Amino acid sequence: MMYDYVIVGGGVAGLNLAAKLRNKQVLLIEEHKNLGPRRCSGLISDRINKFFDLPKSIVEREIYKAHLCCGEASAQINLNSVVLDKEKFETFLLRKAEKNVEVKYERVIKVSDDYHGVVVTTSQGVYRTKYVIGCDGANSFVRKTFVEDEPKKFFFGKFCYSNEKPSDEYKVFFDSKYSDLFAWTAPRRNKVEYGMICEKNLSNKYDTFMRAKNPKETSEDYFGVIPTGLCKCSFSKGILVGNSAGMTKPLTGGGVIYSLIAGKIAARELNKDEPDFRNYEKKCVETLGKEIKKQLFARRIYSKLSDRRKQKMINSIKRERFSIDMDFPMTDILKDKKMKILKSFFGR
Ligand SMILES: Cc1cc2nc3c(=O)[nH]c(=O)nc-3n(C[C@H](O)[C@H](O)[C@H](O)COP(=O)(O)OP(=O)(O)OC[C@H]3O[C@@H](n4cnc5c(N)ncnc54)[C@H](O)[C@@H]3O)c2cc1C
Repeated sequence: MMYDYVIVGGGVAGLNLAAKLRNKQVLLIEEHKNLGPRRCSGLISDRINKFFDLPKSIVEREIYKAHLCCGEASAQINLNSVVLDKEKFETFLLRKAEKNVEVKYERVIKVSDDYHGVVVTTSQGVYRTKYVIGCDGANSFVRKTFVEDEPKKFFFGKFCYSNEKPSDEYKVFFDSKYSDLFAWTAPRRNKVEYGMICEKNLSNKYDTFMRAKNPKETSEDYFGVIPTGLCKCSFSKGILVGNSAGMTKPLTGGGVIYSLIAGKIAARELNKDEPDFRNYEKKCVETLGKEIKKQLFARRIYSKLSDRRKQKMINSIKRERFSIDMDFPMTDILKDKKMKILKSFFGR
């Protein structure tokens, strides 16, 4: 049979999109029966409530404050965020997706173009489709086959859980000895998460951080790659959604909300009789690409800051009682008086 769409990858991006497709023949192929390895902290903004009415069991905790720390400096900012149980969230999306699409647990090993569409070969079969949708994450097979472009940067994340009693504090550490991005301790439902994302030297930095914080009774470590910096996300035979196209925030690595936004844009196009993939890309650039570009620029500046300068910035945040849009921080900062904080990046 000929599918309208084959979605490769059943993470948040693939499952969410699958749940939104209507009256189409769709196959979603995910290589892991349990929906993949654990690779996400699940801290996201409360914008999630615009997408779903989430059952309470999926939300481990609501977090309204974060402490930003560097050396002796620390400041509190206001957040409107939740910590999701990512496995339960993906199962929730899977249940929705299963109502609309066929799901197979197989590993895609080849994707190729043919005259009538695309041939997707897995470890167990061969499937024909008019179009293919790459939701297959950092090392996207679909991206490598169809797009001569890739996300601008790749970050690496590692975290573990400690059986300590959680407080209400989400702490973010900007000390360069810990990470060239940031490290954190995050309260979950009944435990505390210790983790970091980093561009370089993840293992050494992680060891330094864990030695300094010395958490008790820790779980195994979880690891994941975060591609960031929107790349070309459409081609004649399909599109890319989520991590496969670098749809994550260059300042934090967060990508759940961006995947949901891109899924909404994609579904609008894919549900049409004649989808226009360039229109999907145009809308993604307008909605996500501009913010991602600004964050890449801020990330470049951040990478040059000494710890002393970061401390100065944290101290000016302290004076301002700062709160920020977690998903579009640069658009938010640049539009009003928060610009003062940005200026402290450059101040003496
Ligand atoms: C350590 C870490 C912490 C993070 N923390 C946060 C956070 O706190 N908040 C936040 O918003 N975001 C966070 N993210 C990012 C977030 O998880 C992703 O941006 C988001 O889940 C979207 O992912 P995705 O579905 O595009 O890709 P993925 O989650 O990578 O899913 C891709 C899927 O494709 C499947 N797949 C890949 N290749 C094949 C193949 N050949 N055949 C079949 N299936 C295949 C994989 O098994 C996987 O299930 C974090 C990421 C990491 C690594």
